[in-house]
Amino acid sequence: MTTTTDLVSYEDALASYDPVMGLEVHVELGTATKMFCGCSTALGAEPNSQTCPVCLGLPGALPVVNATGVESAVKIGLALNCEIAEWCRFARKNYFYPDMPKNFQTSQYDEPIAFGGYLDVQLEDGETFRVEIERAHMEEDTGKSTHVGGATGRIHGASHSLLDYNRAGIPLIEIVTKPIVGAGERAPEVAKAYVRELRELIRALGVSEARMEMGQMRCDVNLSLMPKGADKFGTRSETKNVNSLRSVERAARFEIQRHAAVLSSGGTIIQETRHFHEDTGSTTSGRVKEEAEDYRYFPEPDLVPVAPSRAWVEEIRAALPELPLARRTRLLAEWGISATDMQAILNAGALEPIVATIEAGADATSARKWWMGELARSANESGTSLDELAITPRQVARVTELVTSGDLNDKLARQVIEGVLAGEGTPDEVVDKRGLKVVSDDSALGTAVDEAIAGNPGVADKIRGGKVAAAGALVGAVMKATRGQADAARVKELILEKLGVSE
Ligand code: ADP
Ligand code: MG
Ligand code: ZN
Repeated sequence: MTTTTDLVSYEDALASYDPVMGLEVHVELGTATKMFCGCSTALGAEPNSQTCPVCLGLPGALPVVNATGVESAVKIGLALNCEIAEWCRFARKNYFYPDMPKNFQTSQYDEPIAFGGYLDVQLEDGETFRVEIERAHMEEDTGKSTHVGGATGRIHGASHSLLDYNRAGIPLIEIVTKPIVGAGERAPEVAKAYVRELRELIRALGVSEARMEMGQMRCDVNLSLMPKGADKFGTRSETKNVNSLRSVERAARFEIQRHAAVLSSGGTIIQETRHFHEDTGSTTSGRVKEEAEDYRYFPEPDLVPVAPSRAWVEEIRAALPELPLARRTRLLAEWGISATDMQAILNAGALEPIVATIEAGADATSARKWWMGELARSANESGTSLDELAITPRQVARVTELVTSGDLNDKLARQVIEGVLAGEGTPDEVVDKRGLKVVSDDSALGTAVDEAIAGNPGVADKIRGGKVAAAGALVGAVMKATRGQADAARVKELILEKLGVSE
């Protein structure tokens, strides 16, 4: 085993090889109880307080399938354009690991509940790439081990290990793609776009929050290279449990460069699992997996087969919500924006806030303007995401309403938003407290206009002489004197009136 990894440049790798990818995504379902027992799935409880004989694998305990778990699996399968099995079973995947008290994982093997689908994903430039889905099957999560007493938190050097079985038995859906070919240099981008699209889909279905940073969704990235023009796949590596969108892309990219280095120097790729390291962007060797491991799969004898009736499946299909890609396509048309604009909105995490702001009464253009402008800047500065900002879509809608009604201009609206973000209250409260109202009443503006004319006799003369465009300088003086609160359009009218010119 080598300790350092040689790479070839990404461009050189792609000049000689075609990447083939396979993505396996695990999603933890958001059911209230576990997959085969009634234990709670709530996070943050005392270790081992959410366990029972079933999820601890005690002798004689009998599992029962969680109906909501099956329904969620059917929803995911349908949304991925899969066929839903008329009849399928669970299987025992036998292996020993301390975080799995039963010594087998209840999973599905050759009879997955959903199979043969696809997911269209959108790349940065708006182009669509179709990823074929091999299968989606039901299984359960393992417990969690913590290694204590060492410096690294790893088992080596630890004095003892702690096990928490609260997570053991939480329902998981594993979604496996067919080998993804033909993406070429865009393979890492496709991988990221696929996981992102899948995450949005899972959220839209309401079956999981799919928060990758919390391990509710994780991705194994299988990757191999074949010489350009070849039709036989190369040996793959499998980078396990990658847990952010960015890491999925980086892991695929790194493996392309590593495989290319090995292959082009005459070496061979060994089939193994690998670990991705966030800090270096590299992967290191895990477990060698040259032969299929012998999990001694057999049908689970303690559970009845799952046979979703066609009527039920059709009922679920009919009740599916509008799916993310279709929704984005519709919104893009409704708002009259480009694919690139939409991509920018997605990258900023602004889609849901914008939609919610429109639902709260704002027009689409203003909603987009504030979330992608002022608010995005503010989130950026404070290093938070848009949904963490201390302003609600309803409040943003209220600000746009005050602009539309003429009570605020853009400059004042920015100050109102700033006040709301600083915790000074609702938009109306900030308007009151800071005294931020557009002044359009003539008596209040008149004095400021007179002063501006008196203070700039040269400009006033030019305007009298017919150079109406010069009025801008006087409007600016009035705005300054009123700290931005004057109604600029009215000020201009007043200036021209007082100087006896018309536009
Ligand atoms: P395992 O359980 O060993 O991980 P699976 O069949 O469940 O095997 O998943 C393998 C994943 O890798 C699938 O997404 C599959 O499409 C993909 N895959 C299979 N062969 C290759 C290959 N040679 N190169 C890249 N990906 C591959
Ligand atoms: Mg795998
Ligand atoms: Zn239990």
